[in-house]
Amino acid sequence: MAMSITTGTSELRDVTKMERIGAHSHIRGLGLDDRLEPRANSQGLVGQAKARKAAGMILKMVQEGKIAGRAMLFAGPPSTGKTAIALGMAQSLGPDVPFTIITASEVFSLSMSKTEALTQAFRRSIGVRIKEETELIEGQVVEIQIDRSLTGATKTGKLTIKTTDMETVYDLGMKMIEALTKEKVLAGDVIAIDKTSGKVTKLGRSFAQSRDYDAMGADTKFVQCPEGEIQKRKEVVHTVSLHEIDVINSRTQGFLALFAGDTGEIKPELRNQINAKVAEWREEGKAEIVPGILFIDEVHMLDIECFSFLNRALEGELAPLVIMASNRGMARIRGTKFRSPHGLPVDLLDRVLIVSTKPYTEEEVQQIIQIRCQEEDTQLTPDALTVLTSMSMQTTLRYALNLIACGKVVARKRKAEMVDVEDLRRAYTYFMDEKRSVQWLKEQQGSLVF
Ligand code: ATP
Repeated sequence: MAMSITTGTSELRDVTKMERIGAHSHIRGLGLDDRLEPRANSQGLVGQAKARKAAGMILKMVQEGKIAGRAMLFAGPPSTGKTAIALGMAQSLGPDVPFTIITASEVFSLSMSKTEALTQAFRRSIGVRIKEETELIEGQVVEIQIDRSLTGATKTGKLTIKTTDMETVYDLGMKMIEALTKEKVLAGDVIAIDKTSGKVTKLGRSFAQSRDYDAMGADTKFVQCPEGEIQKRKEVVHTVSLHEIDVINSRTQGFLALFAGDTGEIKPELRNQINAKVAEWREEGKAEIVPGILFIDEVHMLDIECFSFLNRALEGELAPLVIMASNRGMARIRGTKFRSPHGLPVDLLDRVLIVSTKPYTEEEVQQIIQIRCQEEDTQLTPDALTVLTSMSMQTTLRYALNLIACGKVVARKRKAEMVDVEDLRRAYTYFMDEKRSVQWLKEQQGSLVF
């Protein structure tokens, strides 16, 4: 079937990029040196050396195009940087390599089937780098018509330069005009041609500015020499994801659905047509595939049907690198009565590269807190830093990092520049960490109704 596939613009990519602010905004990369060795504290990442190194090796394989269709799993306790490292990987990839984050529970949305949600996530993570020639910018002359009959030349007829190559337009246009006026003309000069006598006069640039055309009488035809930046058509390259191509070409959805984020289900026939078209572009050398990364957080929340979909999808020709994260040890595989490591079925576990993350040392936690304080433009007194570090060791890193902003609000109330121990103590009493919350719930058991 004949169809034209639209690819949209690169601006669309910003819609997904916006997700990367917030809790992880201090992460700028993996902080590795040229030999892929992790620096102790670099690009916002501290410690977790083994996992960062493993991530760097996988990234290298992705960049060399060797590892599409594979999967890795970050396994480790909560707040040990699984998401942070995955985002570090995303930052290290080029700007046109797609990186998609989903949380497993998102797949169970009411508006689309689980497999549709996963298919969309897969196709968001595959870029198509398309080569296109630039449009000439508005205002440039692409066609010059000079009616030779008006010049008294022996032959009559019309010379039309029809080309989109600006250098050719410029050269031929200039030569023609010079031949007609027998005078050297410059870009921007206006040439007047008398329609009855065919006399050609050069009026110069100042005339072009005065635009006093009426003064020359109604019988004069004007030609302005090509002016402006002479630019050859350039090849531009932009990358869009397969999902963006799907949505833009979907009759029921269309371009705006990308911004609304609600793209609904897309028909498999359309996807097949798009795959065929992209394959054609690849053969013609017009496009290449850029396998990106799909990050699935809390992967143990997927169920057995999703896992079997993942297993199959990873075999497909157009598959991204799938990175999963889980903070569970042995867990039940959803949708079955079986337990397995990280809640993943063994056949899937068998194909993933597992990277573990470990709890941080006190020194590492202190460094992470300092990085976050800089990011949030907050100053802690040395005592407050010590207290917050030990709070983090007793609760979780995420809880301690949340207290930075709360402490700042408390400090500001007493018009202080720096957050002190007392501010943190107050914030600590206002907001419970997970352990205290569980304790409180236990104490209240029987008197609470949910
Ligand atoms: P969960 O299992 O609960 O999802 P996680 O292992 O994904 O946790 P993160 O969300 O990555 O943990 O980490 C919690 C917070 O600590 C985030 O703000 C993260 O940016 C920060 N963080 C974690 N590890 C590091 C690190 N090594 N360097 C700098 N910041 C880190």
